[in-house]
Amino acid sequence: MKAIFLRVALDTPLDTLFDYRCVLSTATDKASIPYIGQLLVVPFGRQELVGVIVDIRESTDVPENKIKDVITVRTELTPLLPDWMALVQFAADYYQRPLGEVALPALPKNLKAIKPVSLQRNLKKLAKLSAPNDTQPTAEPDLNAEQQAAVDQITGAPGFAANLLFGVTGSGKTEVYLQAATKVLARDEQSQILILVPEINLTPQFESHIRARFPGVMLSTLHSGMAEGERLLHWLAAHQGQARIILGTRLAMLASIPHLKLIIVDEEHDPSYKQQEGLRYSARDLAIWRARQLNIPVVLGSATPSLESWQGAQSGRYHQLNLRERAVKNAVLPVVKIINLEREKPSDGLTPRLISSIKLRLEKGEQSLLFLNRRGYAPVLACDACGWISQCTRCTANLVLHKGDHRLRCHHCGLEQRIPRSCPTCGNIDLQPLGRGTQRMEESLAAIFPDAKVFRIDADSTRLKGSAAAAFERVHDGDVDILIGTQMVAKGHDFKRLTLVAALNPDAALFSQDYRASERLFAQLMQVSGRAGRTAQKEGGNMSEVLVQTRYPDHPLYHALMAHNYEDFAKDLLLERQQAQLPPFMYQALLRAEAKELQQALEFLQQAAACQTHIGITINDPIPMTMTRIANVDRAQLLVESASRPALQAFVKEWIVTLRSLKSRVKWSVEIDPVDI
Ligand code: ADP
Ligand code: ZN
Ligand code: ZN
Repeated sequence: MKAIFLRVALDTPLDTLFDYRCVLSTATDKASIPYIGQLLVVPFGRQELVGVIVDIRESTDVPENKIKDVITVRTELTPLLPDWMALVQFAADYYQRPLGEVALPALPKNLKAIKPVSLQRNLKKLAKLSAPNDTQPTAEPDLNAEQQAAVDQITGAPGFAANLLFGVTGSGKTEVYLQAATKVLARDEQSQILILVPEINLTPQFESHIRARFPGVMLSTLHSGMAEGERLLHWLAAHQGQARIILGTRLAMLASIPHLKLIIVDEEHDPSYKQQEGLRYSARDLAIWRARQLNIPVVLGSATPSLESWQGAQSGRYHQLNLRERAVKNAVLPVVKIINLEREKPSDGLTPRLISSIKLRLEKGEQSLLFLNRRGYAPVLACDACGWISQCTRCTANLVLHKGDHRLRCHHCGLEQRIPRSCPTCGNIDLQPLGRGTQRMEESLAAIFPDAKVFRIDADSTRLKGSAAAAFERVHDGDVDILIGTQMVAKGHDFKRLTLVAALNPDAALFSQDYRASERLFAQLMQVSGRAGRTAQKEGGNMSEVLVQTRYPDHPLYHALMAHNYEDFAKDLLLERQQAQLPPFMYQALLRAEAKELQQALEFLQQAAACQTHIGITINDPIPMTMTRIANVDRAQLLVESASRPALQAFVKEWIVTLRSLKSRVKWSVEIDPVDI
């Protein structure tokens, strides 16, 4: 009999690893000796938890009478490899979280069930993840010169390279990814490729491209919309090395992929790559770290790169690859026109020029897309007589009018009320919706164009599982004449018959307090514009165009949009950021505090600001968050900045230890590289 000690990471907020004893009898066969990277079940307080083995030791500091025995080691799962362990360790260190809080949530739930699911049964199902082999792959189109140069660069030199694929919308970035994938897959029989997309809704389009091009290749998809059984199956396919292509949203960045040889991050600028709760990681940033760790290439693709990536390319850290033209012959970027709302008055949110442009599309059987980033019927219900407006009682926010199901609804805490028949303060029965959301636009469009098929896509219309995929399918099939939607419709879709895009009311973001608002608005408008004119103009058809309704026709952002000039716009923004000492020229961490009363949160932050100083670190004043109250919880924040990333890392590490020792009842968390501040 011999005892060894397993150091284990568990999903608990305690920032420590836990030692357990494992007794190996002489009869223990080799297969059941534990390895680092294996899962196991251990007692923890009065419960049992699944953990992962981080280290194996001959001795422990835990006293003999305190040490507990392992319950079982999950030998049926091949161990997580050291490179995966190093990835989660890096993420834990960088984002300043306990290892267990990073490693375990990255695994499918079913693997962590105390009662193990049968992996054998699951493994048998893997075969269904690849199409039958007798299917013929679709032919690869000939690449244009810029696409070819990009593929050559990505797949040419072995080793780490961060490539920024800067390609205008419709320039055929997908084709570059696919042909780079072909080359990497052909190199050996094991190599695996990870492709990240920003949204679940973009997976079906990508999946069908991959399946058509690589019919015999096993594809694993990973995103949050999957049932747990499916998730386990797809995760296993990647972990066991059978899936050669792994397609997923940000969470796929933490999958176990033992033979990873290429990482692709499509639409790398997209804010969805940042996880906004729990471990607030950036999948894009982790992709770069992972590629460097494995010494493999990574591709960041975008028509509007994040300023971080753009700066990376400008400074020579990233290799910039340009695709300047649309890939389809005779498909050209749409003409962008500004409609001055001060001169051309809209009725029901639509200017006469926009209405006639839609008519022209209807006459030719072409599609129009109207972009309005505000769901619901109207953002607020108001009483003219006394000034009452529909406010959420639990948040610093208005209740949004949803006419279809007669509800006022808070988009932040979920509070719902029936629409009042009369004003709750003065009894006036003539309550008015103020402003316009997508539902109201849909109603107006249906009234103006009674014979057209008007269709709305937003979070409300696609609540049911699978309905978003069906909705986009309908647009692709041409069963829609006028599409109205939120940012959901702006991204990545390759709509073929769309020749008109309109931004109905983009101005609000121009004057936002958030310093990233204009970068985001520009990207969003470029992306949504990019949905138009993706095929050659039909004979007698309309030229593709983009109409922007605005009160600020001279704003430089709209001028850059008209000129399709990302580069100059980015240059100006970067200069502004440099002068204002903002990211990417500065590194930031944000301490957030939540309490019943704002004062408590602010007091905690004041205490936090005073408890530690450090050379080269700026600690700003605590302030309430812009949206101070959500669901009856008040929120405040404290921004910490440094020009040196290592200095900031070192400071935050020590600071967190001090903050823990304050034992405050205020709920707090630290976010590294915050994007919403
Ligand atoms: P992006 O992702 O850059 O916006 P896509 O990859 O969706 O663009 O490509 C836009 C269109 O161009 C697609 O219909 C695609 O099939 C087509 N395409 C891409 N590369 C080529 C090529 N080399 N020859 C012909 N068509 C191409
Ligand atoms: Zn009133
Ligand atoms: Zn609310």
